[in-house]
Amino acid sequence: MKKNSDCFGGESNDIARYLAKAAEARVPLAVSFELTRRCSFCCVHCYLGDQECIRKQWQQELDTAAVIRLIDALAASGVLFLTLTGGDPMLRSDFLEIYRHSVRSGLLVTVFCNGSLVTDKIVSTFVEYPPRAVEVTLYGASQETFEAVTQTPGSFAACMKGVERLRQGKVRLRLKTMVLTVNQADLTMLWQQAEDMGVQFRHDCSIIPALCNGDNGNRSNAGDNLRDTLRFRLTPEQAAAADMSINKVREKLQERVCMAAPVEPSTKLYRCGAGKSSCHITPYGKMQPCLITLQPSIDISSGREAFQSAWQNISRLISEREAGADFLCNHCKDRSFCTGCPSNCAAETGNAEQAAVFYCQYADSRREGLKNFND
Ligand code: SF4
Ligand code: SF4
Ligand code: SF4
Repeated sequence: MKKNSDCFGGESNDIARYLAKAAEARVPLAVSFELTRRCSFCCVHCYLGDQECIRKQWQQELDTAAVIRLIDALAASGVLFLTLTGGDPMLRSDFLEIYRHSVRSGLLVTVFCNGSLVTDKIVSTFVEYPPRAVEVTLYGASQETFEAVTQTPGSFAACMKGVERLRQGKVRLRLKTMVLTVNQADLTMLWQQAEDMGVQFRHDCSIIPALCNGDNGNRSNAGDNLRDTLRFRLTPEQAAAADMSINKVREKLQERVCMAAPVEPSTKLYRCGAGKSSCHITPYGKMQPCLITLQPSIDISSGREAFQSAWQNISRLISEREAGADFLCNHCKDRSFCTGCPSNCAAETGNAEQAAVFYCQYADSRREGLKNFND
């Protein structure tokens, strides 16, 4: 379940301020915890690789006691925001135990899921222990489109049933989609559907290459050799046109461009919160700076001390990570239009300091699209 490319940047201004303060103090305020890479869908664009292989290797995932130990470590280390993600985290038979423990520990929990596994029992638990939000990805507005993406018969009906259950329970729900070649025609309908439900919606056009092939739990930036997910990605021009076609997206981009501070010269590679105010935990007990930033990757499965020591190491290594003087992104005037980052670029080019053509052309097309709209 990929986070959208704005990562924690999609939060409200207040939370963005907390995250900025946490980054200054190097407090791990926000953590995403990938409870499993197993999923009930087999989406054409999924960066996790082959679900058959992932499912066969589920024994490598942290067991319940180890996950609970890590939740305790998070709560004791100043973490406030926890995102439970996957795969689909609800595929774990201990999902509710982990979820309840997280909320009781004082964490504000968001759950990313595909909607198809939401049962009445899960909704009752969400009613008793409210999440900050449950985010469900809608891959299409019709069964045909939805299942062209998920490659899973029955997935549309199961997802919509899950969404309905969450709505009936009045659980705080957010919806989103990944825009691909095979579902782009549904984008306006999806936005409309969410608006009719009175639910927040967002879309993301930036598919990333497969980061693992499912044959073991350890990802590498070896996208070229793995499943070719990028053939389902829109061209940069199509992606910008998709953004411009939605008033709310266009207005948000306009606001972001107007509010953007001038690009300050920096020698640092990372400008986001990864490894400064946030980090990611894999189902196999490794801490890494974010879902897509795969290195450094440090084993924390033994609990609190390992978590705190890994955080110190990762935040030091990230803050020390310098970029070369010729790193384009550090001088780029199109940054407010760009959905890329060093890790997105590394997934594509193999080098975090090499801007990927897709992101540069997408940013350029968004700038032109906004200009044409305003003229
Ligand atoms: S819903 Fe699709 S993209 Fe998300 S984890 Fe499952 S298979 Fe991958
Ligand atoms: S490195 Fe990129 S993908 Fe990771 S948190 Fe930062 S902006 Fe997001
Ligand atoms: S990826 Fe391209 S558009 Fe984006 S910040 Fe880097 S140089 Fe600029």
